[in-house]
Amino acid sequence: MSANTIKKAKKLVESGCVVKIEDDLFQIKSSSDPEKSYFVTSDSCECLGFKNFYKFHHGKGLKANCSHLEAIRIFKDENSD
Ligand SMILES: [Zn+2]
Repeated sequence: MSANTIKKAKKLVESGCVVKIEDDLFQIKSSSDPEKSYFVTSDSCECLGFKNFYKFHHGKGLKANCSHLEAIRIFKDENSD
């Protein structure tokens, strides 16, 4: 995963864009469009980057990632204890 993805993810968490809906369901506001938000679970995301990953890397056994999935990982880390 690129350093840029992690940087973006941290920013999403820090600016309060991550909202927990249920145990494994989060809503993340888009950083580029405040009107837009994505529903994200620990292993899936609605965003284009996530969907495109499987389109371009189909069948390679890779796990898709995007700044939103990474943001949830950071969010969970910070809120677990
Ligand atoms: Zn995403």
